[in-house]
Amino acid sequence: MIKLSIEETVINEKLLKLKSSSGSHSPSIFTLAKKIDEIKISIDACFLSNPYATDVFLDYFKKELLDTGKLRDCLEFYPSQNYIIAEYISKIINVSKEYIVVGNGAIEMIQTVLHNFVSENILINIPTFSSYYEFLNSSTRALYFELNKENDFNLNVNEYIEFVKKNKIKNIVLINPNNPDGGYIPYEDLLVIISSLKELDNIIIDESFVHFAYESEELEMKSVANLVSSFDNLVIIKSMSKDFGIAGIRCGYCIMNKERVSKTIRNGFLWNSSGLAEYFFELYSRKEFLNQYEVVRRRYIRETQIFLQGLESIPQIKVYPTKANFALVELTDGTKASTFVAKLLLKNGIYVRNCNDKIGLKGEFVRIASRTYDENRAIIKAIKELFTHREE
Ligand SMILES: *Cc1c(COP(=O)(O)O)cnc(C)c1O
Repeated sequence: MIKLSIEETVINEKLLKLKSSSGSHSPSIFTLAKKIDEIKISIDACFLSNPYATDVFLDYFKKELLDTGKLRDCLEFYPSQNYIIAEYISKIINVSKEYIVVGNGAIEMIQTVLHNFVSENILINIPTFSSYYEFLNSSTRALYFELNKENDFNLNVNEYIEFVKKNKIKNIVLINPNNPDGGYIPYEDLLVIISSLKELDNIIIDESFVHFAYESEELEMKSVANLVSSFDNLVIIKSMSKDFGIAGIRCGYCIMNKERVSKTIRNGFLWNSSGLAEYFFELYSRKEFLNQYEVVRRRYIRETQIFLQGLESIPQIKVYPTKANFALVELTDGTKASTFVAKLLLKNGIYVRNCNDKIGLKGEFVRIASRTYDENRAIIKAIKELFTHREE
């Protein structure tokens, strides 16, 4: 069991205070470093992004915007209107642009869908990403469908469908793969759910982590985005922050039926993007960039698999099955999650997420993201040492 020294306990108090003032999200590494002098972060395994994809984007950014002076245009002028940027996305995902709204991050689209199209009740699988219950209209009731650790947080499709029908659920949300556990619903199962629940108002599927998931050794990804033209109640939410490693420029989108798209754009989302976001989506629609991205996507998935194996070899923790770029980890030797997070941060400069604020989790849980190959090795080495070199 890991224990904190007196000095560490004092800093940990500050850390916990900062965390509780950040609501249901973790304070960023910049906030931590600014507020607590003693903290030096070298690896951010709290944020869930592919660092290699950030590198690819930065190369283009430097070559095409910085070195040419075109960055000025991005900053000085208005970006294009929503439906123009949607055309880029349309080309990539093969969904007609009338079904697409571009968001200033996916979070903006989650907020607007919940506020404008979701009423009465919504079924949310727990553990979950908190925005799906925090942004609900006050008159909408959140109902929870518990994914159990005894079941490795797997969704039992038949039980789920039965529950939805029996409880007169109007709206559902499925994050696939799920955050924070990484649980994945295979494409065929999703199809069963979608086609069995046509009477619902909304089937929201958040595919923010789908680029990290795979169903075979070929590692190809499977999206349900192109089903929106067949299912009027289907709403796909997609963030680009994690798979492209560009959270700072706020890129996301939503795919849903045409009436909802035009209503949303008329309601104030005509100019919600930024010059940099537009640059990203234009870049994303280019074959050359996509090919480079695909290389680093696959590389990152393979390295994540190695990382997960490394974590699984540590006897004091249980790593739950994941198809995302992170793992939900349970501390099984009596160590508190807050102690583990503080120790790893103060001793090794490694930041992981304490999951004690996640509803539906019973036990001591942390979420650890996969980073670069070298960083992943450093994370595993550090965790192993924490458990073996016990300090009094
Ligand atoms: C991070 C996250 C988002 C928000 O993404 P942004 O595009 O950065 O706003 C949405 N859904 C899930 C499940 C996430 O983990």
